[in-house]
Amino acid sequence: MGRSTTIRDRHRAIIAKGRPPCALCGEEIDYALPYLDPGEYVVDHIVPLSKGGTDKLENKQPAHRRCNRAKGDRVDGRHILRRSGSLARAR
Ligand SMILES: [Zn+2]
Repeated sequence: MGRSTTIRDRHRAIIAKGRPPCALCGEEIDYALPYLDPGEYVVDHIVPLSKGGTDKLENKQPAHRRCNRAKGDRVDGRHILRRSGSLARAR
């Protein structure tokens, strides 16, 4: 991934600087949690990339991994349907 990963890492570090709470549920984030923990700090795109959002810092906010996941499922429901063949055919 090279370059874009570096920018993302930088944004991630900038956003985490003030140890802000989750922008989705408002609760504190434990920034010490390990990778893939449901409560882990992740960077959420305010306007999802799939909806035309940018990968710029102003379109990013802190979130728990689980909150980010829940939001993603909601705003991009088509994605879930497409992933499951049986549901997609049920239309
Ligand atoms: Zn949260």
